[in-house]
Amino acid sequence: MGKKVDKRIFKMPDKYSVSGRSSTITAAVWKSIMPYKNPTIDQVEENLKALGMSTEHSYCAYCGDKWTSWDHLFSVVVDSVYTGFFTDIFNLVPACSTCNSSKGNSEWREWMTNGSEKSPRYRITASKLSKLVENLDAFELKFKPSERSIDVLEFDKEIASLISKKEGIIAQMNDIQKDCNEVQDKFRKAYKARFEL
Ligand SMILES: [Zn+2]
Repeated sequence: MGKKVDKRIFKMPDKYSVSGRSSTITAAVWKSIMPYKNPTIDQVEENLKALGMSTEHSYCAYCGDKWTSWDHLFSVVVDSVYTGFFTDIFNLVPACSTCNSSKGNSEWREWMTNGSEKSPRYRITASKLSKLVENLDAFELKFKPSERSIDVLEFDKEIASLISKKEGIIAQMNDIQKDCNEVQDKFRKAYKARFEL
């Protein structure tokens, strides 16, 4: 096999697999059971006020850039398990896409002050960082999102049933993947000579 071509010159589309989508299914199950409530405009105003912002002047709560979506301050899925948090105004803050994807399932303060290269601590000044942390602290103090969550252990029967159904689907996905690999291999063999596959 020859050397791989440098990514700055050429980038192959990602190799797709059915089995590779299992984490999407897992996240979808947990996100589908999570309580979801639209806020009133007053609640949005209150939320922004607690963060030191207003409806006219709002920005990413983590880095101060232009926000693109509202992010769960406390993650709803950690280590493939539902944490019990909600999608409601008391657990949502405006966020830019860089922060949103860099934060992932991390704890916000740990990520902001100790995170990897895309975290705010590498992208903004120390004084701006501490101001934003201060604002988020004020938000937490006011809305106490960490105290607003479901005790999922109380619903272990329902959760166990969901996990078992989800695992059944993932097993089927793995099964389909095996078939896909075989079919792809047949394609390759059948067209090997003609297309140099
Ligand atoms: Zn940001």
